[in-house]
Amino acid sequence: MTVELMGIQINNCTFEEGVNIGMDLIASDKVSQVVTINPEMYNESNINESFTQILHEAELVIPDGVGIKIALMLKGINAQRIPGVDFAKRLLEECAKKSYPVAIVGSKEEVITKAVQNLQNTIPNLNIAYYHNGYFDNNDEIYEKLNQSGAKLILAALGSPKQEFFIYNAKKILHPCLMIGIGGSLDVWSGAVKRAPKIFQKLGLEWLYRTISQPERFKRIFPTLPLFLLKVITYRGK
Ligand code: UDP
Repeated sequence: MTVELMGIQINNCTFEEGVNIGMDLIASDKVSQVVTINPEMYNESNINESFTQILHEAELVIPDGVGIKIALMLKGINAQRIPGVDFAKRLLEECAKKSYPVAIVGSKEEVITKAVQNLQNTIPNLNIAYYHNGYFDNNDEIYEKLNQSGAKLILAALGSPKQEFFIYNAKKILHPCLMIGIGGSLDVWSGAVKRAPKIFQKLGLEWLYRTISQPERFKRIFPTLPLFLLKVITYRGK
């Protein structure tokens, strides 16, 4: 089931349902895009029509971040938050079980190398057929390598909106697969950035923990979240 938030359709599903949809898309005969939507993406969509188009065309849009959950609550919708980092990890595990090759693009060389090592050590039978850091000039070269890898799941950690454009442009070029923009997930999997303790995650307060431990994030979160919620309240579209 999808719910509409300021003109964008968001899949309102449980974590498990999302995983099932993701695995069905992987098994389908097209290239699909997952967007883990957050308030910053709505801001981008306000100033960038091409980005809005990507959000409209994405096969799966899941509510990452507590901001989207609160926004939907204001509309009387109780949505389950699906953190992109957990969602992507779970799909890696499911692909490993099915012996599907996967590929990862993004982050600095030392970060992706360490993340790949950690993933391979923790997920039995994971086949990472290709990976590359996120600092390249020629997208076509990377698309070519991704195609050669035969990866059924491709994770792109290039920051937003870069990763969403990278994935969208790949849709016309790649063999059938599922692609997800995973933001800073490789930084977490490499061990460079610590996740919040479980209790913060459970209460949906991961953002609070991160703000306390990385005060420079405050600047980023603080104006964005209240302004986003104000827009949700005053939105006069359908
Ligand atoms: N990144 C990248 N290439 C770029 C820009 C960013 O690989 O051209 C990586 C960066 O190293 C980091 C990840 O993208 O690992 C997420 O970046 P950021 O925290 O800026 O994005 P957000 O999580 O806010 O979407």
